[in-house]
Formats: sequence, C-alpha cells, structure tokens
Amino acid sequence: MSPDLPSGGAQTSTTYRKLVPLRTLEEIKAAIQTTDCYIFPTSAKSVNKVLTHLRTSLPQLTPLQHLRRLVKPSFLPPSLLSKISAVATTAAYKFPVLYLLVCPVSDISQSSLESFLLALPISRDSEDWPRISTIPVPSCQPINTVQANEWSERFWPTVYKRGNPYGPHPAIIENAAKKLGRTGEYMALAQAVGLQAVAAGVGKGFGCVVVDPEAGEVVAAAGDGRCKLNSKGWGNPLSHCVMRAVAMVAQKRLEEGVEVMPDNPVQPETGLERKYFHTNPPLPPVSAEDGERVEGGEGYLCHNMHVYLSHEPCVMCAMALLHSRVGVVVFGRRMPKTGALVAESADGNGDGYGLFWRPELNWKFLCWQWVEEDEEEEEEEEEEEGVSV
Ligand SMILES: [Zn+2]
Repeated sequence: MSPDLPSGGAQTSTTYRKLVPLRTLEEIKAAIQTTDCYIFPTSAKSVNKVLTHLRTSLPQLTPLQHLRRLVKPSFLPPSLLSKISAVATTAAYKFPVLYLLVCPVSDISQSSLESFLLALPISRDSEDWPRISTIPVPSCQPINTVQANEWSERFWPTVYKRGNPYGPHPAIIENAAKKLGRTGEYMALAQAVGLQAVAAGVGKGFGCVVVDPEAGEVVAAAGDGRCKLNSKGWGNPLSHCVMRAVAMVAQKRLEEGVEVMPDNPVQPETGLERKYFHTNPPLPPVSAEDGERVEGGEGYLCHNMHVYLSHEPCVMCAMALLHSRVGVVVFGRRMPKTGALVAESADGNGDGYGLFWRPELNWKFLCWQWVEEDEEEEEEEEEEEGVSV
C-alpha cells in the first residue's frame, strides 16, 4: 500500500468490499421487454416445407435470431407446455411434433397467418392444423448465458451469441476490473477528503479522487465546497466535489507554460486537497499554445482517467465526468433520489439515468459500485438522500 494514502478498503479493513459493475439502461430494458409471438405445432415431416414457404412468401416477417425457430416439446418450458400441450401432442400426429416460432403478432394478423398456412400445398398434419397460439417471448437479445438460460426456462429456448449489444462486453469489464486493485485505498481517500471538507466547514461529506491509471498517481482529490462563502457571504450550490476535482485537473494542466488562467481559480481548502493539488507534477496542457485542437483523447481534461467517489454523483457531475472523457468511475454509496449513474430503481425497473453508458451520448465509461460483500447497504440518512453529490 502506498504510504501517502489513508488506510482503508479491502486491504486493511475488516469489512470486505467488492466491485459490482453497474447495469446499463439498455440492459435493464432488454431484461424486461417481451413481445407476443405466434407459435404452432407441426410434424417434423412437413416443417421444412412450411418454413420455406414462410420465408419466401412472407419475407417481411421479423426474424427473431436470439430465439430457437424450431423446438421439440420436451425443450419447452413446463409452464408453457401446460398451456399448450392439450392442443397438440405427438400422439395426435402421425409424426413427431416440432413447435415453430413464426413472428411477432404485430407483423401479421392471426387470421391472415392461418389463411396463408391453410393455403399451402402440403398435406395437413392433423384435423385442426394449424393450431396457432400466442406466447410472450423476450424481444431483445440476452446479454449473457445466465440470462439466456433464465429466458429459456421461462419463455422460449433462447440463444446467447457472444457479445453485448446493450452495454460493455463482459470481457472488457473483467479485464478493466483487474486493474482496479487499489480501489480500497482510493475510496478511503475519497471519503477522507470529503470528511475534511465537513471539518473545514466548506461542504458536505462527499469526496472525489482522480487517478492517472498509467502513472498510478492521484492527480486530484476534492471534497464538496458548496458551503464555502465568498466575499459577499454567498455559498456556491454547484461546487460539488466532482466539479472541483475536474477544475483542479484543468488548472494543473494550465499551470505549465500557459499564461491563461481561469477567472476564478479553484482553491484547495483542506490538507488532502492541497497535498495532491500542489505536490504532484503539473499535467500536460490539453491544447497547443496557438489554440489548435489536439487530435484524439489528448484534447480532453480527464481522458481515460479513473475517478473514485464516496457517493454516486448527480446529473451535472456525471455529465462533467462524461465530457471530461473519464475511463472508469467507482463510487461508494448510491443516491437513489439524486444519483445519475445507476440505471435501475429499487424494484429493478430501468427508470434511472444510467449516464455512464447510453447510446445517444458521445462517450461511455465503465462504472462500478464499491459495496460491502453480503451486506445490504446502510439506510441513507434523510439529510443526504435529497442532496446532490
Ligand atoms: Zn454533483
């Protein structure tokens, strides 16, 4: 453990904590969306002909590539079988039966589908063929094998194809997490710098630490500063720990060889803030001296840096992190009323912001919560719950 960091976290505390990757908004929506589809049983003998006719004559039907097209009755979920088994059993047919998944009900009316099938130049399997049923199926691809298996047991046999269209690939999360071995130290520092802000009377107990992962160095540590009064006796409600930390990074980048200074430079207020603001070497500037844009990530304040937060940040701060192009964010306590990174609500619905990974935004970063293993999070204190971090 580095001697210049406060103790804490998994390495030194009796409380064991772990990193839990956040689920993206798209992943949560994908997990709960279903769509109604037509299925019907047909004999194994004629199924290929039926399929060929469907594909050639009704090419507009939506392909559901994450779902098995043909399924033996024994591979259907028992709950589904109990609803449809009376309709068609192998015994009622001359040949073994397969269930054919056709398409979402929004593609074609049941009567049109039935008329189409009845008009096919094939021999009927049974008197009541085609006996069409409507069942709910997952509308999106599963994000992993666990989810695919769950859906197969609940809805319809589902196929997981390696990859995750709704969030970071599992291998990316896994590899990135291996590089977060000092999380306990940095989280302890984030908490400590937040507590120093309280002790100094300048802010709430929220803290932020920015780390350069290549150098393994803390670039900035900032506590909340909303209670710091200016010469007119006013506080600044926007002086959140993330905004102050990003401002410190910006200022450090300006200190070397650039004459322009911000109108209101950020002032370190506590011992820990001063330590990391003044003692670490200044960062390289983000733009050339003549104001030319620097290509690539070099032009952003916190490109691919790692950020550790005592609490989940608000919308303003989450967007500041996103605009600064951070690579990783780890936070401690969730803020259900004001936090902007968690995508799901307490009941698992996706009505949070999930701002770390949204397709409509031009940057994404990986995000974990640092939680106690096997323990529920402590109840939020009333005062903190409604306060933005
Ligand atoms: Zn904030």
